[in-house]
Amino acid sequence: MIPYGRQDITEADLDAVAAVLRSDFLTQGPRVPAFEDAVAGHVGAAHGVAMNSATSALHVACLALGLGPGDRLWTQPISFVASANCALYCGASVDFVDIEPDTFAMSVDALAAKLERAEAAGTLPKVVVPVAMGGLPPDLAGIRRLADRYGFKVVHDASHAIGARWDGAFVGAPGQADITVFSFHPVKIVTTAEGGMAVTQDAALARRMAMLRSHGITRDPAAMTEASHGPWYYQQVALGLNYRMTEMQAALGVSQMMRLDDYVAARMARADAYDAALAGLPLALPGRRAGASSSWHLYVVRLDDPSRHRAVFEGLQADGIGVNLHYIPIHTQPYYAAMGFAPDAFPASMDYYARAISIPLFAQMTDDQQEAVTRALRRQLA
Ligand SMILES: *Cc1c(COP(=O)(O)O)cnc(C)c1O
Repeated sequence: MIPYGRQDITEADLDAVAAVLRSDFLTQGPRVPAFEDAVAGHVGAAHGVAMNSATSALHVACLALGLGPGDRLWTQPISFVASANCALYCGASVDFVDIEPDTFAMSVDALAAKLERAEAAGTLPKVVVPVAMGGLPPDLAGIRRLADRYGFKVVHDASHAIGARWDGAFVGAPGQADITVFSFHPVKIVTTAEGGMAVTQDAALARRMAMLRSHGITRDPAAMTEASHGPWYYQQVALGLNYRMTEMQAALGVSQMMRLDDYVAARMARADAYDAALAGLPLALPGRRAGASSSWHLYVVRLDDPSRHRAVFEGLQADGIGVNLHYIPIHTQPYYAAMGFAPDAFPASMDYYARAISIPLFAQMTDDQQEAVTRALRRQLA
């Protein structure tokens, strides 16, 4: 089976992790700050706060922005459930904005229309979570204009998109979102096994996220309510969590980050090769965005004929091609459907779900593997 995604672990990665295991610190040592600096430095962000997953980073980002009971968070139906669950963890409610058909990103037109209605109804969101689906950034300028007009905060779920570019800068750079979140799950671009990071330009937000990932505890005298009792002293000033990343994970991350540019270049070359090899088949290729480049976490094709969707998917599996479907629309998941979301409320997302197939794409993919995928797809669509 050719997997849809796969991590790349080198001897240098193994050595980096083993060195931590022989060192004094397995957690709360020097590697986590080094990894935060490596990621923030690479993407051009002022601050990075590493956590044990992107799910945790989304939760802490929302907490740090003050999302709570009575507040609303909007995201898109086509994403992993974590993009929506972060609101519910905070006691806030969730709603959805439909996608652009060709890029699978949140539609700025749909967002603008929904904001206009919400303003009239007094139901504006506090946080909006657009997703870089497959690694392609959404229209961050359009979303920023609406954020400035309606006063919501933007948490960019860039779990797929470390190394992607938007308007001449990396995703996570200034002028995009209030907070940008990356995932380091093994199927993503670089991995720490489990892991995530929130990056921001705002020092106060970064301090708050770092405090919330570690029980809501601070050792910073400036953040305390009274003078220190002595060298042992710390204060819990908020209800935080234990979402810390380990030193082993951070060491793996630092080692992996050295190959990020190579990984993204390899994925781009594979995506270009798929575009060329699949042109003319009865399917739609993933859209591109002017001024942006994807890190190509996923390569998603959409069949012209949705009635063939299941048969083609199963046929590819039978041919040893590890296909996947990213994602089942969140609002149709039983947990969300029970909140009253109608399946047809987001037609572009439902149309996507009826046609989409993620085909294998990973940095170490060989020409033979890629040819096997395109051959199988041609056969299934013949
Ligand atoms: C993978 C993923 C997450 C969650 O990442 P974890 O690190 O596994 O918690 C969140 N959002 C999207 C879009 C993802 O693909």
